[in-house]
Amino acid sequence: NKQVIFKDYINGYPKASNMVVTSDSTIRLELPKNVDGLILTKNLYLSCDPYMRNRMVKFMEGNYIDSFTLGSPIRGLGVLKVLDSSHPEFKKGDLVWGPLNWEEYSLIKDTKGLFKIQYTDVPLSYYTGILGMAGLTAYVGFHDICSPKKGDTVFVSAASGAVGQLVGQFAKLHGCYVVGSAGTNEKVDLLKNKFGFDEAFNYKDEKDLNATLKRYFPDGIDIYFENVGGKMLDAVLCNMRVHGRIAVCGMISQYNLDKPEGTSNLAFLILKRLRMEGFLVSDHYHSYPKYMKMILPLIQEGKIAYVEDIAEGLENAPDALVGLFSGKNVGKQVVAIAHE
Ligand code: NDP
Repeated sequence: NKQVIFKDYINGYPKASNMVVTSDSTIRLELPKNVDGLILTKNLYLSCDPYMRNRMVKFMEGNYIDSFTLGSPIRGLGVLKVLDSSHPEFKKGDLVWGPLNWEEYSLIKDTKGLFKIQYTDVPLSYYTGILGMAGLTAYVGFHDICSPKKGDTVFVSAASGAVGQLVGQFAKLHGCYVVGSAGTNEKVDLLKNKFGFDEAFNYKDEKDLNATLKRYFPDGIDIYFENVGGKMLDAVLCNMRVHGRIAVCGMISQYNLDKPEGTSNLAFLILKRLRMEGFLVSDHYHSYPKYMKMILPLIQEGKIAYVEDIAEGLENAPDALVGLFSGKNVGKQVVAIAHE
């Protein structure tokens, strides 16, 4: 059973060498006899997510999630197939998504957080993204936190990623004017030509982000979906419209810095009477059934696109995970261990 083992706590940027791929022959690929409530799974797809960086540090004041254990497999979200079960709620052949170890096969006792997959007429990897945590994040963040109205002007950063590409498309379906930023010209092209953003720009090519935003939003921004923080947030604050809303989903530009950058523009919250609200998707799983009801017809009718970046094989999982922090991924970063 191949596994990705967590090796070192980190400072600064995570590296692939903080993890090691090993083979553990002690895991028996069968259910132990006379023990109930277990499932044996074959793990199909792994989700690479920026929050996992929080689990790679030893201890962080105020961290909302436990650190990984040295010498144990990396844990994340993913798609699994039940090979055998002594658990009353699962049977052989069931497909599920939820928390798992980064390994080929698992024996799972604690099935908390596993969702049964009912709808399989899509790539199963979608349950790491559009039909999983990233999708729910985009849905809750945009619809519940941003209070969108038709005609609003919307700006999304890290817009081509797992969450951002959906936020932009939800905003378009809502009748908003939408601009996205991303870190390569290829991603900018996707934003405009695949996801239907009205405009998009490569933030790395812009010397003065304040002036850039003025160019795209001459009358200001009603809604900012914040994924990156730092200089972008600083520039956005200067360009918000009165009564604008900022949903703080993430600040990936700050996660690896020893000293996160501050902003000197918070006074705009007063001047423009803004609402800025952070949220964690983990508080919103009760909305998952409602989200599925909304998103599945959109996928079936071809009204929404979803781009994934699939790394093949567990050996490539460490590189795929750390690649999120240099923008290597184009779309949702997935690792395929097996395709079924
Ligand atoms: P993405 O698929 O967007 O991947 C991360 C992207 O971030 C990279 O591809 C890169 O894109 C961009 N990025 C990396 N470093 C920087 C930097 N220094 N400055 C600007 N951009 C950078 O990830 P997700 O869609 O999964 O997550 C997006 C955000 O949402 C993250 O901040 C994440 O932490 C947050 N999040 C929050 C949740 C919550 O519950 N609040 C739940 C899920 C995600 P580019 O090439 O464009 O720079």
